[in-house]
Amino acid sequence: MTKAPIPSSNEEAENTSPEHWTIEVRDAESIAREDFGLDCRAEPLPGEVDRNFLLNTDAGDRWVLKISRPGADQEVLECQIEALRFLERSPVAHLVQRVLSTRDGRGLIPVETGEEGRCWARVLSYIDGTPLAHLHERPRRLVEEIGRTLARLDLALRGFDHPGIHRDLVWDIERTHELGCHAEHIAEPKRREMVERLLEDYRLTVAPRLTGLERGYIYNDANDYNLLVRSDAGGEPELAGLIEFGDSLHTITIAELAIACAYLMLDRDDPLAEASHAVAGYHSVRPLAADERSLIFDLVVGRLCASVLLAAQRRQVEPENEYLQISTRPVWRLLERMTMIDRDEATRTFENACTASDTPNRSADEIVAVRRRHFGFNLSISYSEPLKIVRGEGQYLFDETGRRYLDLVNNVCHVGHCHPHVVAAAQRQMAKLNTNTRYLHDNLAEYAVRLTGTFPDPLSVCFFVCTGTEANDLALRLARAHTGSKEIIVLEHAYHGHSPSLVEISTYKCEGPGGEGLAEHAHKVPMPDIYRGPYRGSNAGKDYAEEVQKKISEIQGAGRKPGAFMAESLIGCGGQVIPAEGFLAAATETIRAAGGVSIADEVQVGFGRAGTHLWAFETQNFVPDIVTLGKPIGNGHPMAAVITTPEIAASFDTGMEYFNTFGGNPVSCAVGLAVLDVIESEGLQQHALEMGTRMLDGLRELQRRHPLIGDVRGLGLYIGVELVRDHETLEAADTEASRIIDEMKGRGFLLSTDGPLHNVLKIKPPMVLQAHDVDETLAALDEALGRIT
Ligand code: PMP
Repeated sequence: MTKAPIPSSNEEAENTSPEHWTIEVRDAESIAREDFGLDCRAEPLPGEVDRNFLLNTDAGDRWVLKISRPGADQEVLECQIEALRFLERSPVAHLVQRVLSTRDGRGLIPVETGEEGRCWARVLSYIDGTPLAHLHERPRRLVEEIGRTLARLDLALRGFDHPGIHRDLVWDIERTHELGCHAEHIAEPKRREMVERLLEDYRLTVAPRLTGLERGYIYNDANDYNLLVRSDAGGEPELAGLIEFGDSLHTITIAELAIACAYLMLDRDDPLAEASHAVAGYHSVRPLAADERSLIFDLVVGRLCASVLLAAQRRQVEPENEYLQISTRPVWRLLERMTMIDRDEATRTFENACTASDTPNRSADEIVAVRRRHFGFNLSISYSEPLKIVRGEGQYLFDETGRRYLDLVNNVCHVGHCHPHVVAAAQRQMAKLNTNTRYLHDNLAEYAVRLTGTFPDPLSVCFFVCTGTEANDLALRLARAHTGSKEIIVLEHAYHGHSPSLVEISTYKCEGPGGEGLAEHAHKVPMPDIYRGPYRGSNAGKDYAEEVQKKISEIQGAGRKPGAFMAESLIGCGGQVIPAEGFLAAATETIRAAGGVSIADEVQVGFGRAGTHLWAFETQNFVPDIVTLGKPIGNGHPMAAVITTPEIAASFDTGMEYFNTFGGNPVSCAVGLAVLDVIESEGLQQHALEMGTRMLDGLRELQRRHPLIGDVRGLGLYIGVELVRDHETLEAADTEASRIIDEMKGRGFLLSTDGPLHNVLKIKPPMVLQAHDVDETLAALDEALGRIT
């Protein structure tokens, strides 16, 4: 609509000079009346590519009629119309133009002008406001609000799709370095050289870093003439809205913010501070990934280069257009200034802006005080000096000061903290619909097929629940329904969940502080631990399985029927124990022979962590009757599942409905699908095997030099390091273990201990752990062990 000082961004403008075609006011009025039902007076508005008219209707409303240049791409225009319609249901609806539909519901209509190619007309609501460029005093609050609005817009557009979102546009920030051919049109040699150098730098050091960034359909044109502001009765100016979706396209999402920053920084005393306000606002709504933050400065430079290059090219077409010359002056000024700013310093400024916007008003101490007063009293906090973690990314966590920690212990954020594919899937579906399993929905069907497809026969029926506890509780109900018995055999030190039904069979809880002992129907057998358990030789698997047989005989001897044997496929709370070879397979056979079923708890260990297989039970050569899944299944989104056989599912179909309000909702299923996508597309199972092997090899090497290490065990990225004071007596080095944890924390590595004697370091990081992380962990552990022993 309004002419931007930086030549506008529509690629099509290059080819068709705006002077070449016209639309008369009376033609505009007749289009408005006949097609859009508006009786009005039309008045031309400035426009770069489109012909724009302000329509003052007889009813007193104001609309804008926009007529595209002849031959404009219909699909792209339709995409823009649909995007605006889509945004009508979003939190930024009041800040974007509404689409007026024709009587037959169309948003875009063809207009014959006699020119080559058709023009297209659409009518949008008029936003009353002044371009931001005309505002001399810009309050910081307004700039932050611009950042927040653009972030809301980007989040809202995540759910939008249309064939027209993918297009070739010279203003696509990803293509900046391709604009070098226009440098020859820059008259002044020094400036030409500067731009050529910057573009080369962009090609070599910026473009390659764009590949892994989040992408989406964005507005892509937040310049200071497209952002309109309004101040009511002399009050502070507020954002009235944003106009012109002509440059919108699918590209790196961070371009939205970088483009806004480029224009906000023009002719400012402290351009970095101005941009950092927008960055902080944006980040407070759509947290920026580290890669995105580190690229803002370069992308701003890129956008400024694109601006001067395309202006130079435009001047070839319109040499007499002096305005072009004048309008690029502030851009040249900023570009020259940018070359004198240290990129690292700029990035630090943006980082600090993000961290400051992350910091809510309570200090760590205050939060501890709130927890003491208002939280259930038996919630624990990790570390004697608690950590306040404010951000996660991949394998890293960040505290409120911006300090980075390698997360070696969170097996929930399986594919990496805040994985963009998973986050986007959740946000997209959340913006569309969330219901329950009583409606038909594609996500549920798709997820059930994908998930069950990863299991061997006959495990083909799934139940969706919300937590590992719910999954295990349901597993108990399934087993009871199928066998008619509550009697269950469990491993000593096992943990299966926090509900009464599970606490009473989990000795980790019921035999610990505050516990009331095992339920009468629960029977424990020794943990199949070949390092510390009663059986350690090559026959250990059979020996431990024999204990299961003994329990079964005892149950039968008491006139009861064995119902289930339940165990983790790799043992977590028991101390990262890999079961003695053959134990789980033999125990499963034994329980089946007695009429019971085998339940594998894969809440911690499923989804490829074991490296060689997707499911940890597969590493133990048996197929359970019921498998429970949790933690990693949703990468932090609360969801879980139970997989079983059709036969057992049929036994559970007793006439009583199974309904779970949140289990299997469309958002959870979208998340679950996204997690499976990432595991596959990033080859995380194989990666876990490689990283796990590297870690295990390194730990075994440390074991040779540090006598405190008694045992190193693990499969893939499920690893335990047992610390002992004496290799004969296996006296547990528990205080040493907790000192190591603190030492490691001080060095930026988060670990924790487990096992009945609290002397096992557990390592079960997000599966995106990299080789350098492994090497750094080993080096830090080497140092930490050196300080303890
Ligand atoms: N089973 C195992 C093996 C677990 O480790 C846990 C949680 N630590 C659970 C079940 C319970 O899962 P949730 O906390 O999601 O209820």
